[in-house]
Amino acid sequence: MRLSRYFLPVLKETPAEAQIASHRLMLRAGMIRQASAGIYSWLPLGFKVLRRLEDIVHEEQIRAGHIPMLMPTLQSADLWRESGRYDDYGQEMLRITDRHNRDMLYGPTNEELITDIFRSTVNSYKELPKTLYHIQWKFRDEIRPRFGVMRGREFYMKDGYSFDIDEASAIHAYNRHMVSYLRTYERMGLQAIPMKADTGPIGGDYSHEFLVLADTGESEVFYDRSVTDLSLGDRSVDFDNVAECQAIVDEFTAPYARTDETHDEALFEAEVPADRRKSARGIEVGQIFYFGTKYSEALGAEVVMPDGSRKPVEMGSHGIGVSRLVGALIEANHDENGIIWPEGVTPFRVGIVNLRQGDTDTDAACDKLYADLTAAGLDPLYDDREERAGAKFATMDLIGLPWRITVGPRGLKEGKVELTSRRTGESELLTPADALARCA
Ligand code: ATP
Ligand code: MG
Ligand code: MG
Ligand code: MG
Repeated sequence: MRLSRYFLPVLKETPAEAQIASHRLMLRAGMIRQASAGIYSWLPLGFKVLRRLEDIVHEEQIRAGHIPMLMPTLQSADLWRESGRYDDYGQEMLRITDRHNRDMLYGPTNEELITDIFRSTVNSYKELPKTLYHIQWKFRDEIRPRFGVMRGREFYMKDGYSFDIDEASAIHAYNRHMVSYLRTYERMGLQAIPMKADTGPIGGDYSHEFLVLADTGESEVFYDRSVTDLSLGDRSVDFDNVAECQAIVDEFTAPYARTDETHDEALFEAEVPADRRKSARGIEVGQIFYFGTKYSEALGAEVVMPDGSRKPVEMGSHGIGVSRLVGALIEANHDENGIIWPEGVTPFRVGIVNLRQGDTDTDAACDKLYADLTAAGLDPLYDDREERAGAKFATMDLIGLPWRITVGPRGLKEGKVELTSRRTGESELLTPADALARCA
């Protein structure tokens, strides 16, 4: 992409309404624009990052054997009356009336809708297990939308629903989700720690939230420092292997890690040596939940068993906050000059800065580099504007691409360009071919 043809409305001023770095930087880098409180337009640069996260989520869900689909944003209130949640959900639910005076709502989550699809299409135990998921916009009329996309009212969420015949199979589905989430966050360059979460009135041990440690997080968390040493790395996982998934879950949930909702100070002190006890703030970027037959019983989602009896299915729901993750990634990856994208999620991989726009040789060298980087699949953003070098560097630092290649007449005399890493700030003079090879 040539910057002269792109749409990148960067702001020079720091927007006064933004209280945290990610919100400020997303506005300044022209990634989002507020449409109304807690509702944002995703401008091209922000949309590109959102898409990259969405792609990773899809790839990892499909790898785990889960099936993508798409449910609508608007739902009928009738299903929610059946489950009893229409009244319980309270003011976070945006209620809408259509022209025929029917009660509708903008979905805050999809348990009812997916259970309705399931009950009207699946009859036999033979069709289980199944996990269906979608990535769709949600609406929750948050009392205090803030921090940009971190606590929006409209937000983008992956929500998956597992249907199993018995508890053992449902726990395997739960474990598959935990493992696939660990891999998803790692691919994004984030450490998200699974923490024991509140299961509310349903009870049981089967809910975890995934928390990214950050001072600006809204949750208070308590954990054994050793949990931050864990990583899935590049081990390959057989998601059909029950014991293997269980072993990974056991490994990642062995160290104490809880949010304030489930924190037990006495247990914390008994289990964790004092020098490893940590308390910090965290951002919730996902949650998994096994809740048994709560919705299947309420909505009559049953299957016929081998002996002819009918049984309500065991269900779980599993969410990832895709749009919140964009903010969380920036909270974890920025400095005073701007964003520092991890390579796995960056909107463009490399930026080209032309120091002497209009100079025939420099323009020609940039054009060739741009063509070569594009052919190599490195998705360059070429700053070909008639701007001062300082302004071009500031823009590149702000939008945070991992690599910058600076091209000017002085270097070109020796056949060299300058390659700079956004993360380390280190620069090297290289031939264009070597620079390309280095950021590949
Ligand atoms: P929170 O505690 O932050 O209100 P939640 O527990 O209500 O979140 P879930 O129902 O678990 O949210 O939804 C799954 C994921 O969706 C969350 O882990 C979070 O990452 C994301 N999410 C929830 N609410 C919002 C929001 N208002 N804006 C952006 N993302 C959100
Ligand atoms: Mg909430
Ligand atoms: Mg929560
Ligand atoms: Mg939650």
